[in-house]
Amino acid sequence: MNPPKRRSWAEPYKIKMVEPVKMTTREDRQKAIEEAGYNTFLLRSDDVYIDLLTDSGTSAMSDRQWAGMMLGDEAYAGSRNYYHLEASVKKHYGYKYLVPTHQGRAAEHLISKIMIKKGDVVPGNMYFTTTRLHQELAGGTFADVIIDEAHDPEDEYPFKGNVDLNKLEDLIKKHGADRIPYVSIATSVNMAGGQPLSLENLRQVRELTQKHGIPIIHDMTRVAENAYFIKMKEPGYGDTSIADIVREICDLTDGATMSAKKDALVNIGGFLAINDYEVFEEARNLVVVYEGLHTYGGLAGRDMEAMALGIAESVQEDHIRARVGQVQYLGDKLINWDIPVVRPIGSHGVFLNARKILPDIPQDAFPAQTLAAELYLDSGVRSMERGVVSAGRNPETGDHIYPKLELVRLTIPRRVYTQAHMDVVAESVAEVYENRKKIRGLKMVYEPKYLRFFQARFEPL
Ligand SMILES: *Cc1c(COP(=O)(O)O)cnc(C)c1O
Repeated sequence: MNPPKRRSWAEPYKIKMVEPVKMTTREDRQKAIEEAGYNTFLLRSDDVYIDLLTDSGTSAMSDRQWAGMMLGDEAYAGSRNYYHLEASVKKHYGYKYLVPTHQGRAAEHLISKIMIKKGDVVPGNMYFTTTRLHQELAGGTFADVIIDEAHDPEDEYPFKGNVDLNKLEDLIKKHGADRIPYVSIATSVNMAGGQPLSLENLRQVRELTQKHGIPIIHDMTRVAENAYFIKMKEPGYGDTSIADIVREICDLTDGATMSAKKDALVNIGGFLAINDYEVFEEARNLVVVYEGLHTYGGLAGRDMEAMALGIAESVQEDHIRARVGQVQYLGDKLINWDIPVVRPIGSHGVFLNARKILPDIPQDAFPAQTLAAELYLDSGVRSMERGVVSAGRNPETGDHIYPKLELVRLTIPRRVYTQAHMDVVAESVAEVYENRKKIRGLKMVYEPKYLRFFQARFEPL
């Protein structure tokens, strides 16, 4: 027999410690999802086989990071782990000054409070929930300047995270540069499905904003994932290292907020990094009020150590190729089977197009919520609704807001699951898709007043 001409690829790590997961029967899952009111947020993690609810804080740390946890210097002030983190941020991201925070939103709180005045406008390449809320709480208004392609789930443009320079220029003309405290630029845009921006676009944004003296604040939560797409898709970067691309991105901006629970491979942590000394001084002062002293910012010394090491691991070529590659592997399987997903596949998850998969279920009967529940019932895979339930109600009319996108998000934690798990997920999606004609919708029987998707309860129609 001739061996096949295939060269397989596998994860660049091996397993040293295992966390057993519970295997369940369909009856077990039926009981669990009923008890959870058909809402995957209300399932107990113990009843989940493969948990794709989020990639936030769900990564597996390396043996080096765990060893680093034992080197925690839990001094109240001047912990050596803070200095290690500061050196790691400087080396890999290049920003001059560092203020650690317990997670990303705390850094957003600080920068918004310091830089935004009442009546200001903050342009950004699509909103993120906590980022926008902190801008608004500081008295500002968010203005979306992402390219139109980002709002179309079927447009195949490779850099759907790009800024529309005309939109940005019009905004500067309309409000004046002194009403714009900074432009908020996210890498690997979360709400667009993990879509990257190009270095060419960022350079143009830099040129335009510098002309008007407007700084750029970078939401760098998934910067390494964005760098990977630049390496693969942007002309001229095929031979540049991920670490160098990350530096090039950061060097085109003036400061950053980071949720280290994503790219940086830790379960908790974040920071504000900034080049302007005056802004740093104020942030160092304010962090004491909200988080803790400026050398720990609400974190234990061991957490800062794990973060310092995680940052270095996050820009390694083999790591990032495997991380984004695993998401692409799952997405490509579903695309090959003609299952409707958002395209191109982004960096941190695959988004199922529930509206297309369940066209006979009206949005009133919650197609994405239904699909997420069916997927759990089929295999114990936990996903998340991103559709009419998440969109909420119009505060004036009290009607549901009917968003254009009715999606189910399969978010992949970093270094936690294997290719075999991805096969199980893909096969379960295919099974549910095959039986889609038999699926009925849901009715909402309990609706909380705020952010209803977390706690709403449903029953089958
Ligand atoms: C998660 C996230 C944040 C907020 O960070 P937390 O650590 O959850 O507070 C901000 N921006 C983006 C793009 C994120 O994905």
